[in-house]
Amino acid sequence: MFTGAVHQGPPQTDHSFTDLGLSEPIARSLDKIGFEHPTLIQAEVIPRGLEGADVVGLAETGSGKTAAFALPIIEKLLDGKGTRSLVLCPTREIALQTRSFVDAVGQEHGLRSACLIGGVKMGPQISDLRRKPDIVVATPGRLWDHYERKNVRLDQIAHLVMDEADHMLDLGFLPQIQRILGVLPVERQTFMFSATMPTTIENLARRFMSSPGLVDLRPKSLTASGIEHRLYLVRPDDTKACLLGLANEEKGSMLVFLRRKVDADWACRQLELKGHDVERIHSGRTQQQRVAALKGLRDGKHRILLATNVAARGIDIPIIEHIVNFGMPDAVEDYVHRAGRTARGAMKGTVSTIATWQDKEIIRMVEKAIGQSLPRCTIEGVEPWTERKQTIRGRKRLRRRF
Ligand code: AMP
Repeated sequence: MFTGAVHQGPPQTDHSFTDLGLSEPIARSLDKIGFEHPTLIQAEVIPRGLEGADVVGLAETGSGKTAAFALPIIEKLLDGKGTRSLVLCPTREIALQTRSFVDAVGQEHGLRSACLIGGVKMGPQISDLRRKPDIVVATPGRLWDHYERKNVRLDQIAHLVMDEADHMLDLGFLPQIQRILGVLPVERQTFMFSATMPTTIENLARRFMSSPGLVDLRPKSLTASGIEHRLYLVRPDDTKACLLGLANEEKGSMLVFLRRKVDADWACRQLELKGHDVERIHSGRTQQQRVAALKGLRDGKHRILLATNVAARGIDIPIIEHIVNFGMPDAVEDYVHRAGRTARGAMKGTVSTIATWQDKEIIRMVEKAIGQSLPRCTIEGVEPWTERKQTIRGRKRLRRRF
């Protein structure tokens, strides 16, 4: 089942999908899953995609980019046979979500797909490949395994998508991506999507794409305007008490990012003991457990989901009221990316960060990037941390916030 169709989608344009050049049958399939009008990125990318142009799209998860690249490809795949399209994704979750969208629209037009992701058995994937899917959605590592075992042919690929390219590079997939690009036909259409445009991404575009058009829809303020930011500065020993306090005080759905698996396991146990409905996803959990945890949050089975950064990347959870950073993320991009999990469309959301004095540099960088200072907040029972400074003259003790 396609679980991506939600009532509260990203902001849409006034166009219709047929205005963009898509056929009536595809527009009807979109209507069935609740897509009435294209989003901004879809309005920009679909016509170029249908013309056969290469496109670099700079946009976050949540903008509707999956349909932006999938729809022109689906339209072009309606005639012909063999595996002609390849979508590379950074994580299993994104690959599964992309595949379910492709199936939701393509299946009734006879299109077949396969999803090649790690952490699950190869057998069923091999069976899917034997049925000669029109479109393969894959994480780079597992795709390369299949290619080396000659389970999949890539010599007919006419459309390639590199989704969340910056995250694929963060996760160390560059060598596999380069190998894959090396065996694909040179004559092809390539889409690349990324939330940021570092030099490595620019280089990939320059080397492997042909005069790509750029669609830059990065938000000007870097994060959605409906987001309320909160910063809880505490002593290192108080971070856990602060997390438990937040879980008690805040009643809505909550996605908590933690650095380490052990912290996620610890927090899960503690929150359960306090009577909260909670689940966790991290690399130590099986694929089935991760899918069940995400589904449970969507269905309201549990209110709180704990996730390590890598496991959570790009997951599409439609309604999250509260994002909690248990520890400041290592990079500004991560803060912005995580914040993108809330306040989608016209919704409001909160991003709370539990941090210590050790995070002060990255806090400054985030504040600069989002153009506002993070309001300092307190939680009952946890003493806020303030920096003590000695002045040279008078040796007076000053308390100040950095
Ligand atoms: P994406 O950025 O592709 O992950 O999409 C984010 C969310 O928006 C998903 O839940 C999609 O189902 C939803 N969505 C994307 N495009 C549309 C549209 N044109 N109309 C309604 N919902 C949409």
